[in-house]
Amino acid sequence: MSSLFQNYQRRSLNLVKGNGTVVEDDKGREYLDFTSGIAVVSLGHSNPAILKALKEQSEKLWHVSNLFESPAQEQLASSLTAETPFEHAFFCNSGAEANEAAIKLARKFTGKNTIITFNHSFHGRTFGAMSATGQDKIKQGFGPMLESFRIIPYNDPMALQDAVDHDVAAIMLEVIQGEGGVNQIDEEFAAQIAQVCKEQDILLIVDEVQTGIGRTAKKYAFEHTVLKPDIMTLAKALGNGFPIGAMLGAQKLFNSFGPGSHGTTFGGNPLAVSVAQAVIDQIFDPSFLQQVEEKGAYLTQQLQVQLGSSENIKEIRGKGLIIGIECRKGAAELIQEAENAGLLIVPAGPNVLRLLPPLTVSKEEIDQAVAILSSLVHQSVSIDS
Ligand SMILES: *Cc1c(COP(=O)(O)O)cnc(C)c1O
Repeated sequence: MSSLFQNYQRRSLNLVKGNGTVVEDDKGREYLDFTSGIAVVSLGHSNPAILKALKEQSEKLWHVSNLFESPAQEQLASSLTAETPFEHAFFCNSGAEANEAAIKLARKFTGKNTIITFNHSFHGRTFGAMSATGQDKIKQGFGPMLESFRIIPYNDPMALQDAVDHDVAAIMLEVIQGEGGVNQIDEEFAAQIAQVCKEQDILLIVDEVQTGIGRTAKKYAFEHTVLKPDIMTLAKALGNGFPIGAMLGAQKLFNSFGPGSHGTTFGGNPLAVSVAQAVIDQIFDPSFLQQVEEKGAYLTQQLQVQLGSSENIKEIRGKGLIIGIECRKGAAELIQEAENAGLLIVPAGPNVLRLLPPLTVSKEEIDQAVAILSSLVHQSVSIDS
């Protein structure tokens, strides 16, 4: 019997090292990592600049309490908020924690309780974040959820209109639902949300834990839309694998999080912050983001050309380097077959294959991955018929 709780469905693969897009298992077999640890290792495994930042900081100071000054947090906060609607940051250790902070801040600032969220959303596993999540399966057996979440269909203008009333503190959404199936917000729905928030004084929280930090070829995915969020949450790629989360907020929220209102021991510790600074110094370079855009367009186009015609493929969608391939059937089998052929991918919802290569992926690696997927998809159809 395992010494671990069995709360994950683990794949029988023991990965022991990585370099760039390539990871190696304990038997010396190499794989193309098109998961990036689920949108985490965006600068690739063993990235030299990130390693250097971690090594240098680790030889100086690992941890300081948040009861002391932190010029490094100030610097990271100002880098993250530059040219955004946000002015201030709070650092924590994960996406769920960033969302907890967002929920608390929204309630405290508005004095209201209700938060509107969406079906198929994912916000994390703590009680607040789980309550916000629009998926019943992750709530089963855990008793009453946190009160006052109103969960409505995504991209449904009528449902939104019906859900808004004077007790709504905030609307919380993913611009692209990552876990829920790589579902993108409609332009008209985004416009409606922007308008409702403005007219009714409702805060907008965007959860960019998966889509932020260059994944969609912009710094943050909301920049593709007309949305002007008041609060944004980040984690996953922010530390390239070193745990760190962040909540960014607009100027007007500043006084709602005063001394003693919220906190964490580890959040924003010197190791995490030095790594995150090195991460965004690379990713926020406009020429880097330009490359993500080009690679994303190339990958999507190659997938369309080589897989799009298969009768098993319903839709290929995404932005930058978060791409969902919706299958008619057999997504789980395809993921296993891809692994056998040397390509790691993850699902998103029941029938969607999700591709999340490191943003540093090469054109050759994209070609290899598409070739593997193409042969598997065409093969699976011919076996069935
Ligand atoms: C992964 C994820 C979370 C949860 O992040 P953790 O670090 O696992 O707590 C929250 N929101 C979104 C959109 C995510 O993809």
